[in-house]
Amino acid sequence: MHSFTDFFKGFERLPAVRSIFGDQTENVLRQLKVEFFSSKFGYMGVSDEDGHLIVSAYYLREGEAISKYLDVIHELVHVKQFRNGMALFDETYEYHNRPTELEAYKLAVEEARRLGMSDKELFEYLKVDWMSEEEVRKLAKNLGIKVAPKRAQERVR
Ligand SMILES: [Zn+2]
Repeated sequence: MHSFTDFFKGFERLPAVRSIFGDQTENVLRQLKVEFFSSKFGYMGVSDEDGHLIVSAYYLREGEAISKYLDVIHELVHVKQFRNGMALFDETYEYHNRPTELEAYKLAVEEARRLGMSDKELFEYLKVDWMSEEEVRKLAKNLGIKVAPKRAQERVR
């Protein structure tokens, strides 16, 4: 276990992050622990046991900078949710409808838009190997991201 602030610098100064933790921002980030794992699968997550951040070292090395940045914002929302006693993995909801996920994605999407990302780029960002194309479309819709209609070819299949 490492200290978050040893590896992720300057996040305490971001308005997006301050909007999560308010004047507790420095405090929370200083206490936050991060665990790295080595696998080509997976990205980042938050432990539902003690709220620490879990990060794929492979993803950190190979992933796109903007994706990693948005993922950190997303995961910090989960850190707050955990601290507030919320269940992070409420299985009564599918991933693309889960309120804890939508809250986390919403802030990441806001930040992405502020940085000039288009809806098309955001849709690409949402794609992960555990969601079907249909689920990604539903998630995008829940987040107010415009998605191009499926190609005519696909529709007639
Ligand atoms: Zn999440």
